[in-house]
Amino acid sequence: MSEQTQVQILQTAITAEVPPNAELIEIKKMVSEIIEKINSIGSEVVAFTQHVNTIKTLSIILGSIGIWRCSSCKMNVNGVCTGWRLPEDLSNSLKHLLSDDAVIQQENIYRLRIDRLSFIGAICPIYIQR
Ligand code: SF4
Repeated sequence: MSEQTQVQILQTAITAEVPPNAELIEIKKMVSEIIEKINSIGSEVVAFTQHVNTIKTLSIILGSIGIWRCSSCKMNVNGVCTGWRLPEDLSNSLKHLLSDDAVIQQENIYRLRIDRLSFIGAICPIYIQR
């Protein structure tokens, strides 16, 4: 076969004797749409993961600063903050959101367990150095 004949064969379009199957065309369209959605979800997951990592980093930094401030604060008595009095509903919310030992009741007053909520110290406005 000559080189010219080979090129002609490659350039000849394939034709079908029957019309394309409408269901297959519909399935191909659906598959394309699913692939598009998967690709868009992938980029949203990457953005979400970056936000989560930022929040984790901030949490670690705030925790470290909080530990340092609370450990040098006059209001820290054996790991309990005596500077804040918590209302019962806030105490219950903190227990529910964080853990049961995030708050302690002393003489009918709800107090923060700063050894459980060290990040509080980083933003606390009533810090008093020992
Ligand atoms: S810094 Fe604030 S939260 Fe920490 S012990 Fe002092 S008063 Fe309490």
